[in-house]
Amino acid sequence: AARAQSAAAAGYQPESEFYKVEAILRPWRVPYVSSGLLQMGIRGVTVSDVRGFGSQGGSTERHEGSEFAEDTFIDKVKMEIVVSKDQVEAVVDKIIEKARTGEIGDGKIFLIPVSDVIRIRTGERGERAERMAGGLADKLSSAMPIS
Ligand code: ATP
Ligand code: GLN
Repeated sequence: AARAQSAAAAGYQPESEFYKVEAILRPWRVPYVSSGLLQMGIRGVTVSDVRGFGSQGGSTERHEGSEFAEDTFIDKVKMEIVVSKDQVEAVVDKIIEKARTGEIGDGKIFLIPVSDVIRIRTGERGERAERMAGGLADKLSSAMPIS
């Protein structure tokens, strides 16, 4: 309940029914994150191998005035998860819980509004397309039956 309230209070701008949670992660933490997400009912996840620099790459590689050489980029994984607005904070909390070491280079999370979701197989749009069988919304509704 505390999580749902903080999501409502977050007041993301621009407002949207769906958000993409985009997380840049240490590759070796990805299995922890994905199993944590799967356990909570997040079943739609896309990952890509990427390379980047933040304070981790930059601090050791900066030389007076020179550009970052391409070989200073550090291997990361980008994880993209589209969820309904009310699930954003739970997903963010889970990613932090599973990805964090406390050392520089743990990564970052970006929240991006998503205009619509379309399931190619059926042509469904919006909530019908975003919902997944056995997903978080299903788990919550079966855990809290209307009495
Ligand atoms: P269907 O019922 O037709 O199988 P689906 O909703 O289960 O539709 P898939 O076609 O299985 O979707 O998904 C294909 C790919 O789309 C997945 O492998 C994943 O990379 C990506 N994907 C699906 N849903 C999401 C989501 N909510 N967030 C991020 N990526 C997703
Ligand atoms: N919000 C969807 C559901 O509850 C799950 C979305 C996802 O797995 N990325 O069914």
